[in-house]
Amino acid sequence: MLSVDGLLEKAVAGGRLTPEEGLRLLESHHLAALGRAADEVTRRLHAENYRTYNIDRNINYTNVCTAVCDFCAFYRRPKSPEGYVLTHEEIFDKIDETVALGGDQILLQGGLHPDYKIEWYEELLRAIKGRFPQVNIHGFSPPEIYHFTKVSKLPLREILERLKAAGLGSLPGGGAEILVDRVRAAITRGKVMTDDWLNVSRVWHQLGGRSSATMMFGHVETLAERIEHLERLRQLQDETGGFTAFICWTFQPDHTDMADTPPAGSFEYLRTNAVARLYLDNIPNIQSSWVTQGQKIGQLALLYGANDMGSLMIEENVVAEAGTVHHLTLQQIKDSISELGYVPRQRNVHYQLIDEGSEVESLHPHSRHNLHPLPVVS
Ligand code: SF4
Repeated sequence: MLSVDGLLEKAVAGGRLTPEEGLRLLESHHLAALGRAADEVTRRLHAENYRTYNIDRNINYTNVCTAVCDFCAFYRRPKSPEGYVLTHEEIFDKIDETVALGGDQILLQGGLHPDYKIEWYEELLRAIKGRFPQVNIHGFSPPEIYHFTKVSKLPLREILERLKAAGLGSLPGGGAEILVDRVRAAITRGKVMTDDWLNVSRVWHQLGGRSSATMMFGHVETLAERIEHLERLRQLQDETGGFTAFICWTFQPDHTDMADTPPAGSFEYLRTNAVARLYLDNIPNIQSSWVTQGQKIGQLALLYGANDMGSLMIEENVVAEAGTVHHLTLQQIKDSISELGYVPRQRNVHYQLIDEGSEVESLHPHSRHNLHPLPVVS
């Protein structure tokens, strides 16, 4: 059996960790050693002199939701007087502001609304693309897509094909929490379970689409279940190659039904981020989660496996409802990158550089880790 140092050497050299080996690393308290190894892997995958960020706006088109997630402070039950659905005009105003700030994308997500069939979402996508053809719609996480199949009583593939035809550009990997049914059953009701979450991503990838993958940890899961989550993502990525990036963050308990859960700290965040970089050898990009960790730890994540500062996040209602108060300006994001000796560069959802003066350029077009190149879709 390899020592922790031996396992780190194996991962740095490009060896694939087994679930048992991943778990041993996640149990390790050698944070500095984990960070050093994760950073070596990051620099092997991203030898460039820059680190990236994105500018987009999180538009939560409704907070009405039929599901009950104990960790969520954002949703309102159907018929709640505090429920809302944004009008097209309200959404257009938010996109106007995003474009004015240099953004090229919106993150369009909402609760699981009981009334709207697929036509409602198609109409919304077409309205947005008609007015803002240049803006990528990164929209509808797997729980929403799965919910659409139930409300519309249509097969998953048809739902995704119709959304794509109406202008959906890419899929955010939200609502994954921990992709283990024991955990999901303990903290959610009325929401997609593990196999169906993965299947939404699978079919989207089969249609040529790209999506991200996420993990919210630090609640009722065990460390072994965190590794199981990473393993399921790695397996699907072997199959489709459609995940562009992985983002993990710690559960934010304030104002939720799980408010007495002790929050996972920075040590736990950095350790998990580093192990994710070492374990997910086929997912090219890892984003820092400064929204939940703040600027300093968000910056440190760039030395613990992340190669991207994530989005400027012009609006982030879901985490804000849970009491997280971290807001960064564009300059602070750029400073976080440049203080580490890297050039800050703006990218799009496909991790192509789009800042002024740059040709649209893939960050790692020839990376041997980009095992399943797919056509860029937007
Ligand atoms: S996390 Fe999403 S699915 Fe769960 S209650 Fe909140 S809005 Fe609804």
